[in-house]
Amino acid sequence: MGKIVIAIDGQSGCGKSSTAKAVAKNLGYTYLDSGAMYRAVTFYYLQNPFDLEDSNAVSEALENVEIEFKKDPVSGDQLTFLNGKNVESEIRQMEVSNNVSKVASIKLVRQAMVAKQRKLGSAKGVVMDGRDIGSVVFPDAGLKMFMTADLETRAKRRLKELSAEGNVYSLDEIKNNLAKRDELDSSREESPLIKTADAVELDTSELKFEDQVDIVIDLARERIEKEESYASNN
Ligand code: C5P
Repeated sequence: MGKIVIAIDGQSGCGKSSTAKAVAKNLGYTYLDSGAMYRAVTFYYLQNPFDLEDSNAVSEALENVEIEFKKDPVSGDQLTFLNGKNVESEIRQMEVSNNVSKVASIKLVRQAMVAKQRKLGSAKGVVMDGRDIGSVVFPDAGLKMFMTADLETRAKRRLKELSAEGNVYSLDEIKNNLAKRDELDSSREESPLIKTADAVELDTSELKFEDQVDIVIDLARERIEKEESYASNN
């Protein structure tokens, strides 16, 4: 089967990553979580604070940040490594969630992450989720999805996920974090969260998880077939 890049952008907590993961599995593609990279830089920043306003300090910090993705040998899930250490669980904590949009708004940080994302996706056959994947990272992606869901639904889903991992947060705490991130991510100067004209919008508020996954898979298969027939005619 042919290979395209699938970009899944959207608001925080609307189910992008779980959908992207399931789609990648179905198509035999690689799943890449771009948010994990911004979270890893934020975790580094919280542990080794530097002046976010000082471009020299930011550049120096970025030189000391090495992010890698490895596969969990048991579940096959993506694990995020920062400077050789598995930080997958640490980067999901609320302290990181509360600081990540600030760190992700810095131009130098974005430039470094986007370069890495493009490298990782260069072989195609990837599903990448984030905020600027269809608009900036892969403007030529074969399929662009823009996912949304109402705040209440997103907060409840996120609460369930975090609780399953043994974290205790209140619904209000999660709601505040999602709303604040939506606001910062959509209003920032550097590659804000936007729906591009060629993205397919999918509101998942009323959808069952399997149904939202099927919608994306069907669209992806359509686009892959189109690319294949284009390639064989040229
Ligand atoms: O996807 P996730 O919610 O884990 O992303 C965490 C944060 O990273 C987002 O709220 C956003 O500030 C930032 N991000 C970004 N661009 C991306 C992916 C994530 O700015 N492509």
